[in-house]
Amino acid sequence: MPVTIKSPNADEIFDAYKQKAPKKDLEKAYGVKGAVFNIDQITAAEYVQNVQKGCVLYFQYKEGAKASKEAAEELYTDPSKVGGITFYDFGTANVQRSSWKKKDDTVPGYKTLKEASCDKCGGNGYTACDCKNTGIQKCSKCDGKGVMQCNTCKGEGTLSTDIPVIDAQGAKKNVSKSYNCPDCFGNGTRLCTDCDGTGKVLCSKCKGMKGLPCKECGGTGIYYSYTMIPVPFKSASGLEDAIFPSLKLGKFEKEMGKELEEILPQTDAITVKKIEDLTQKIIEPNLGYFDGAIKTAMGACQKQFKTLEKTPGTKPQLPVWVFPLLILDCKTKKGTTFQVYAIGTEQSFVCKGTL
Ligand SMILES: [Zn+2]
Ligand SMILES: [Zn+2]
Ligand SMILES: [Zn+2]
Ligand SMILES: [Zn+2]
Repeated sequence: MPVTIKSPNADEIFDAYKQKAPKKDLEKAYGVKGAVFNIDQITAAEYVQNVQKGCVLYFQYKEGAKASKEAAEELYTDPSKVGGITFYDFGTANVQRSSWKKKDDTVPGYKTLKEASCDKCGGNGYTACDCKNTGIQKCSKCDGKGVMQCNTCKGEGTLSTDIPVIDAQGAKKNVSKSYNCPDCFGNGTRLCTDCDGTGKVLCSKCKGMKGLPCKECGGTGIYYSYTMIPVPFKSASGLEDAIFPSLKLGKFEKEMGKELEEILPQTDAITVKKIEDLTQKIIEPNLGYFDGAIKTAMGACQKQFKTLEKTPGTKPQLPVWVFPLLILDCKTKKGTTFQVYAIGTEQSFVCKGTL
């Protein structure tokens, strides 16, 4: 007689999720203004509205000579931005997948971080400016002469005035008298006010910096290169996961597949040792329930297994595990709805939530 395996109950799943979920998210959804937030006060009974039951079929497979893993792409950054990147140095240690909170499985590797001289500017930090890197240019107001025409005398150096003179016949004539322009003392020119008489001003392009900051390195003369490295997960068996849920796992499908690998050694989930045994007759009594979606997932699993068997270089592994899958539909008092997914048995399961 088959023994029906035990699914974890909603309380256990909800508790496990509570411990795992970011506390600030829980507090945001459940906290009461003015009251001290206490995680123990959030109970499944109060917030789980519905439980969906299904199953997850899971097997692993070997992928022959992995499509020549191309060398990790080099990424570049400069000193002003490198501090905004979080690097990882795992040493020789491994990481427990379930404790890995980041979405990505590859991260910037600290050991790959290298400093190099910028080849765009030769490490100077600057590139050529129109001023031939002198930092100065000809004054445009005085065209480099340093002097400008005096406005008072229009460059003449002299001004003149008419003196009216009347003769014996009563006729009037004007006698012109000239004198030195008092604003330029007869020179006709004044020092240029833009360049203070030097004929030169700071280069408008580089503002006197004798070069333009290199766009490549931001003016520092160096840049950093690094590559992304894979997180060394503990149970990295080198095997790929094939996961077939009867209910949609959405974005968690891949992650949960990887986490299942960690609980395999202690799980008491249903193990199917022959792919042909993936039938309702065998699965239903062990699982304790069955439906059309489970049947569809079984069909997809069998099909994939057989395809992999026929594909040169790949080798699907037995057994196929059948885990109970429970999805808790939850709603907080504030009306926030979210789901908690649990795959596994009462003995060991993995869970994720969308809060
Ligand atoms: Zn540069
Ligand atoms: Zn003058
Ligand atoms: Zn000038
Ligand atoms: Zn310049």
